[in-house]
Parts: sequence; structure tokens; C-alpha cells
Amino acid sequence: MRKLPVPEPVSAGLVLSYKCSSDCKHCMYACSPKWNADWIREADVRRFLSQLSGRIKPAPYGPDTIDLNSGLHFTGGEPFLNFELLLRAVEIAREVDIPSTFVETNCFWCANDDVTEARLRQLKETGLGGIMVSVNPFILESVPFERTERAARIGRDVFGRNAIVYQNFFYRQFTGLGVTGALTFESYLEKAGMEALGYAELIPMGRLPFKLSHLFARHRPEVFFDQSCDARLTSPHHIHVDNYGNYIGGFCAGISLGDAHDLESIFEGVDLDGRPILLALTTRMEKLYKLAKESAYEDLSDGYVSACHLCLDIRRHLVRQTDQFEELRPTQFYSHI
Ligand code: SF4
Ligand code: SF4
Repeated sequence: MRKLPVPEPVSAGLVLSYKCSSDCKHCMYACSPKWNADWIREADVRRFLSQLSGRIKPAPYGPDTIDLNSGLHFTGGEPFLNFELLLRAVEIAREVDIPSTFVETNCFWCANDDVTEARLRQLKETGLGGIMVSVNPFILESVPFERTERAARIGRDVFGRNAIVYQNFFYRQFTGLGVTGALTFESYLEKAGMEALGYAELIPMGRLPFKLSHLFARHRPEVFFDQSCDARLTSPHHIHVDNYGNYIGGFCAGISLGDAHDLESIFEGVDLDGRPILLALTTRMEKLYKLAKESAYEDLSDGYVSACHLCLDIRRHLVRQTDQFEELRPTQFYSHI
């Protein structure tokens, strides 16, 4: 049997659900308000975090500090859509001794100072280490900038240096441009100019290649045939476990390396013989393309902006035909791109 070796993770995200208040054009996990509210079960939070405990490494300055690439973050979707569950998850993480915890938020809920401060203090008292305030032109389409500013200001009051603004470039830029309220992406580009996007971390995977392909050069599929994704899919950094129990490596949403209810079985190596898509992706992209052609896959006439664009378009095609590929999970992801 061919097996894919998967090292134990050193940092991770726990996806509480894929439901989000926003529907960002760049979302790697294709989150939106349209997802079912399939919140992670409390018993699963405990099961996943207990297994991650002892494996997750603290941030470089210690377990009480945070860093985007260390520790464990609570994410989604938007975790504050279910504040009680978020609190409970933080409590469980503290009980099982997970270091360097923080929550990511788009700040939609920060409508006034009192609520913002009360919630952040409650989270801190429950054991949360810090907060990451997400700032970029895509979130700005649905979240008024005043709410982001409030979260950053009060987040610093409550968590001190453990309040991270990401990306700080956009925070400073929106402040400098005098942005108020929400702004469409087109209006943002008019104000800031196209060159501002040079500072954005535009990772051409997830929803982005489909919604913003006009920003990129496009290529024929053959250009990406040599790519193999084994290193990326099995990176021990920043893995995610979602609310359905999927173990996701390399930000590759929609690809499950296995069932996180039993992490040990994943670390013993993932059976590739029963997972042809994973086998193809960890060998050579051409293999995936040929497999897709056997089931009448048609190339996108305008080409592809990245290997991930090709990969995702093929995976979506396959999921539309059958749900037999157990590595293509959750299947709903493919209808929300
Ligand atoms: S990028 Fe963040 S805020 Fe935007 S849809 Fe995805 S999870 Fe929601
Ligand atoms: S090509 Fe597919 S498997 Fe490879 S990094 Fe992109 S999304 Fe992940």
C-alpha cells in the first residue's frame, strides 16, 4: 500500500464552522453566510484539542504570547457568529493546555465599544491569549472600517502586544485615505490605485482565482503539469481541523488528509491507494488532469491563473460528478467557491 507520510503539526487552526458574515472574493475557504450553520460539536472540540495538546508549539516568546505561525487559532468562517461556542472552545483549550491561542475575526460584530470590550475581556478571562484583527480590501466590502478600528483599539487595551492587525499595511492605508464605512472593491481601487494590491497577500487559491482572475495573467494547463504538492499538503505548519473533522494541510481547503477524530491514524501515513486525487496531487499535476479528462473535464477557455486554480476547477468538476472521493471533503466547499 502506498502511504503519504504526514508529520505531526506544530501550529493549527480550529474551524468552528465555514459560516461567515462576509463573502470575501479572496476567501481561501470559500466561507460565506450561505453555508449551513454546522457548528463544531463541543465533544469534538475536546477530542481534537486533546490530541493536538503536546504537539502544538508555543510562539517564539513563550506560551503566553502569540504569533501568526505558532500555537492554535480559532477561526472559520467567523467565530464571533457563535460567541458561546467560541468561549467554550477557549475554555477547553486552556483545560488541555494548548499554548499561544488566539482568535481571528473580521470584526463585523464590533458595533459599539461596550460590547466589544465585554466580549474581549470575557475571552481573555476564559484563557484566550490574543486576537488577530483581519484587515484587507475584501473584508472592507462588508465590514465598516470603524468596526475594524474599534477592534484594534480595544484589542490592544485588552490583549496588549497580543493584539495583531493583519495586514497592517491596509490598516494604515485605510486610515490615511480617511476610509469610513464599507467600500466596494471597485471603489477601493479607485481611491487607492491598482498598485496598492502589490501589498496584498493575494494567494491564488480558494475563491480568488474565480472571482478576481482578471487581475492575473492566465496560462494553459500544461504550464502547471510539473507541480507536485506533497510538501505543501503535509507541512506541519498552520494545519486546520474543521468542524466536520477534516484534517487540512497547506491551506488547501476542500482536501482532507483524513479524519481528525483519530489523528494517530493520519500520522501513521495516509493510504494513497484509496485516494486517487491525493495520489495525483502528491505526484504530478498532470496526473490529476488526465484523471479529470477521463470524466469529460473541459478546460477553462481563458486558462488558469495558478496551479491551484487548475486543481480546484478539476476538483469541483469531480465533486459535481460523484461524492466517492473521500479526500474531497467537505463536498459543500465546492458549491460555495
Ligand atoms: S476571508 Fe475571512 S471574513 Fe472573508 S469570507 Fe473568508 S472567513 Fe469570512
Ligand atoms: S495545487 Fe491544489 S493541492 Fe496544490 S497547493 Fe494548490 S490547492 Fe493545494
